[in-house]
Amino acid sequence: MAIRTYKNFIDGKWVASSSGKTFDNINPANKKEILGRFQKSNANDLNNAVKSAVKAQECWRNLPAPKRGEILFRVGELLIKHKESLAQDMTREMGKVLNETRGDVQEAIDLTYYTAGEGRRLQGETVPSELNNKFCMTVRMPVGVVAAITPWNFPIAIPSWKLIPALICGNTVVFKPASDTPLSAYRFVKLFEEAGLPPGVLNFITGTGTEIGEPLVEHHNINLVSFTGSTDTGAKVAHKCAWNMKQYSLEMGGKNAIIVMDDANLDLAVEGVIWGAFGTTGQRCTACSRVIVHKKVLKKFTNLLLKRTKALRLGDGLKNTTDVGPLINEAQRQKVLGYCKVGVGEGAKLLLGGNVFKNGKCRNGFFFEPTLFAGVSPKMRIAQEEIFGPVLSILECKSLENAVEIVNDSRFGLSSAIYTQDVNRAFKAIEKLDTGLTYINSSTIGAEVQLPFGGTKGTGNGHREAGTTALEIFTEWKSVFVDYSGTLQKAQIED
Ligand code: NAP
Repeated sequence: MAIRTYKNFIDGKWVASSSGKTFDNINPANKKEILGRFQKSNANDLNNAVKSAVKAQECWRNLPAPKRGEILFRVGELLIKHKESLAQDMTREMGKVLNETRGDVQEAIDLTYYTAGEGRRLQGETVPSELNNKFCMTVRMPVGVVAAITPWNFPIAIPSWKLIPALICGNTVVFKPASDTPLSAYRFVKLFEEAGLPPGVLNFITGTGTEIGEPLVEHHNINLVSFTGSTDTGAKVAHKCAWNMKQYSLEMGGKNAIIVMDDANLDLAVEGVIWGAFGTTGQRCTACSRVIVHKKVLKKFTNLLLKRTKALRLGDGLKNTTDVGPLINEAQRQKVLGYCKVGVGEGAKLLLGGNVFKNGKCRNGFFFEPTLFAGVSPKMRIAQEEIFGPVLSILECKSLENAVEIVNDSRFGLSSAIYTQDVNRAFKAIEKLDTGLTYINSSTIGAEVQLPFGGTKGTGNGHREAGTTALEIFTEWKSVFVDYSGTLQKAQIED
């Protein structure tokens, strides 16, 4: 079958890059399968995309927010209509199992409905004035042109967290997806076109982080960069934005942990740890990569976990017999393998896995064995650095205080969880864990769109996506003072 070539979307038209070059999008479960060719964009394409977003700004911000919301609600309807085929394509290009790619699309549906409703809210405040006959209020204004740069692990959900709030707030957007997952991004953008979004309001260009991402961040007509990806790339984005006096919001890496106390329901905890550590093949920013177990139940818990991990079935995510799909690419597989060697070298005990998986039908994909390390100490590199693969470290703790100390001894602060039957311990953990998300008797993954999402320390820069907090990223506040006294009233000045 002929391989299809996909184009960029600039000013409402599908156009090829002036570079004349493309790159291949491959299936990580079978690298021989090419899913499509995408534009290897250059500076010229980038300039055209930004120019188009600047041109569309005035018209879009002047469209009443409820009308903007109506278009976005149509995007939500189209996501529902195409949910299954979007999920199938996403599994093909990203590898995670179908149930999870369906969840990815569902998250975008939820986010779209929730946030499109902001078209009829976008609330500000009214506050009293210190003077008579004077009215004070705040209103939200769009920031301008937004650059949305996204990773590959949630190919539709994460773009939705940026595009939908940016657009409802009256911004226009240039969207650069990850080079590993351009097909899902393309299909998402097609839905905005079908929903009737005016030309230029959303522009889509594909290409590498260095060739397109960096110049996009630096472009003088970009007012805000909304980035999700690794902490290393995020730091580069932050430097460039700070230097150019731009706004930026960053969602970055994690080293998330689950605490299992001696009073925990161990069967429930094992299920939560399996889902957190091996769901999405460990490639979630919220993945559980450390489980910190009370010494009284360590042996029992480890045995249960080992048995359950051994039963996981690797394979193509399109098959309903598969529990764990491939990693995203060979570079990621080599990185994970490298960390397993580091763990062994550091003296951790390899209980299971630790190697690439090439058996049978998996031979052409980037599969890796689900891996368990025991006897891990908190300062080991495998307990400190983000691995982003199916590798779980088991650490021992002596008490809740000790467990919290281990969780917080990290440069990241995204997600944490605790399994306990004791309400006092649960609330103490909520108070002390230094992470943006904390789950009680549930895994480190499972965020819902109506709550803020993001993390502390090296995970973010103080912003939160989703919920109503997303509006803080994508709007500027204007304070308005209406004096209807007919005289010159001077605040703070005594007569
Ligand atoms: P990444 O390598 O940092 O890439 C993220 C995006 O940035 C991609 O679109 C990439 O383009 C682009 N990019 C690369 N270099 C760039 C540069 N110098 N300037 C501007 N853009 C650049 O991250 P990833 O491997 O795709 O994603 C995995 C990471 O994302 C993990 O660390 C994970 O924890 C994090 N993540 C965080 C969250 C969260 O909400 N906190 C959610 C999901 C993932 P190319 O694809 O073309 O290289």
